[in-house]
Amino acid sequence: MAKTLVLLSGGLDSMLAAHVLMDQGVEITGLSFNSNFFNTAKAKKAAGELGIELIEIDFSDEHLEMVKNPEHGYGKKMNPCIDCPGLMLKKAKEIMDKEGFDFVATGEVLGQRPMSQNKESLKVVEKISGLEGKLIRPLSAKLLDESEPEKNGKLIRERLLDISGRSRQKQLELVKKYGIKEYASPGGGCLLTDPEFSEKLLKILEYWPDCILA
Ligand code: SF4
Repeated sequence: MAKTLVLLSGGLDSMLAAHVLMDQGVEITGLSFNSNFFNTAKAKKAAGELGIELIEIDFSDEHLEMVKNPEHGYGKKMNPCIDCPGLMLKKAKEIMDKEGFDFVATGEVLGQRPMSQNKESLKVVEKISGLEGKLIRPLSAKLLDESEPEKNGKLIRERLLDISGRSRQKQLELVKKYGIKEYASPGGGCLLTDPEFSEKLLKILEYWPDCILA
C-alpha cells in the first residue's frame, strides 16, 4: 500500500485531496505547520474528521526569515504564496525521505489562485521543494504532468481529478460524496494576506529588519 503525507491546512480542498487518495487505498498522514502567521488548529480538526494522524511542525523562525525576503516575491500583500508552500513542501520532503513515505500531496487546485496556482507557479513550488515528480495535487492531477507514483502504478491517474478554477461546485459535490460533516469555510489565506496586518508588518520590517516575532 502506498503511503503519503498530505499537507493539511484544515480547509476543504486538502481534506478532499486526502479523501481522493484514500479512495485508492493510499495510507494518509497529515502534515501541518505553526508559524507566526498561521497555526495547526484547523488542521487538527480536519485530521480528526478524516481519522488520520497529524504531524505538526513549528517552523516560525525559518518561515519569518523567508517572509522577510522571499525569492519569488509577494502576492498582493505580504504573502509570499510561492516560497511559503515551497518551504512547507521542503520540510515534507525531509520527512518523506526519513520516514519512508512514497510521495507528498496537497489540496492545491489549478487556477484557483491565479498568481500562485497557475501551471508555472505550481512547477516552481515543486522545484523549490525538491519533490519533482513526487508531488501530487489529486484534485487537479489529470490536468498536470504525470507524476512518478502514477507512472509506477502506485496511483491510478484515471481515479484522480481534473478540477480547475475558482468555482467550488465540484468540491461541494465531493463533500456530499464523502459525507464530510465539518470543514473550515474557504478563507482568503493567512494573516499575511490581511491588508492592515501586512501594512504593520511592512513597517516593522522597515525599521527592524532583524526582528524576531514572539
Ligand atoms: S496564504 Fe499564507 S499560508 Fe497560504 S501560501 Fe500564502 S503565505 Fe502561505
